[in-house]
Amino acid sequence: MSEEIEHVKCLIIGSGPAGYTAAIYAARADLNPVLYTGMEPGGQLTTTTEVDNFPGYPKGIDGPQMMEDLRQQAVRFDTEVRTGWISKVDFSGPVHKIEVDGGKKTITADSVIISTGASAKWLGLENEQRLRLSGGGVSACAVCDGFFYRGQDVVIVGAGDTAAEEATYLAKLCRKVYMLVRRDEMRASKAMQKRVFDTENIEVLWNTETLDVLGDEGVTGAKVKNNKTGEESEIEATGFFVAIGHKPNTDIFKDFIDMDETGYINVVPGTAKTNVPGVFVGGDAADNVYRQAITAAGTGCMAALDAERYLAEKGLA
Ligand code: NDP
Repeated sequence: MSEEIEHVKCLIIGSGPAGYTAAIYAARADLNPVLYTGMEPGGQLTTTTEVDNFPGYPKGIDGPQMMEDLRQQAVRFDTEVRTGWISKVDFSGPVHKIEVDGGKKTITADSVIISTGASAKWLGLENEQRLRLSGGGVSACAVCDGFFYRGQDVVIVGAGDTAAEEATYLAKLCRKVYMLVRRDEMRASKAMQKRVFDTENIEVLWNTETLDVLGDEGVTGAKVKNNKTGEESEIEATGFFVAIGHKPNTDIFKDFIDMDETGYINVVPGTAKTNVPGVFVGGDAADNVYRQAITAAGTGCMAALDAERYLAEKGLA
């Protein structure tokens, strides 16, 4: 680790709704939080266009604008927001060590709040990314964006519990849901599969892979291929949902923090505490079930309150 060492009371890693909410609470509790934004300042919501389900915005809000509002609220209470990324941590000793920007700086912290989030997995097709980033109808969150496709036809890719759950969610809003499953069976639990099969307006296309997402300004359909017969065809749809899993951004913590086999951080139930005293977690880094901005904000708040109590007990707050 580097020569330059700075000590902070409360270090927050990540700048999504969990990180900024933790910062607002920590700052108001006089913990002088320092927040590192990470590689994607603002987190997953900066790749969303309209957020309609966050309470307090009756007319909806643009995702990047909402994150800017949260940032400004955190700064208003003197959170120090820094652009940078945490490259390494060492939680083995009594003081937590954190390396910034690949070793340019080392921080020691009395408490750490992990709010590094998770990233949706994508198919990796050029048009998928183009239409996702332009708000053109590609999404990895049916609960967030399904509403925009009311009465329309949509495609969803995936065959796990998330895809099954999101397909049935979309089926309530949309006229028709085409579910593209790449094998001849689904990974989703039997109960979730039954819900899919029992829903009239979901059509499961087995052994089907996506070759391309079609559309210039907005999605007009998908080009698909049956990997058994080799037959290629096009599906008409205005929304293209990808539900092939998420990856929590927790790799740098894995030597110190207890996680499940997919990398989601384990918490002491009902708290934001990890297995390491003084290290807390909020948001999607510990949540593979709800994954909403509002739940991330809620658990970010819990993390800050737990950190405050921890520091008070240690006589450090
Ligand atoms: P999973 O990893 O379980 O499933 C991912 C799915 O996406 C698989 O069916 C996989 O296909 C498919 N897939 C992956 N890559 C591609 C690709 N390139 N093209 C097409 N399909 C692809 O992720 P989930 O998000 O569904 O679930 C994560 C965890 O969360 C699971 O443990 C799940 O049980 C849990 N969960 C539980 C819920 C509940 O209980 N209500 C709700 C949601 C999630 P293949 O099967 O061929 O590998």
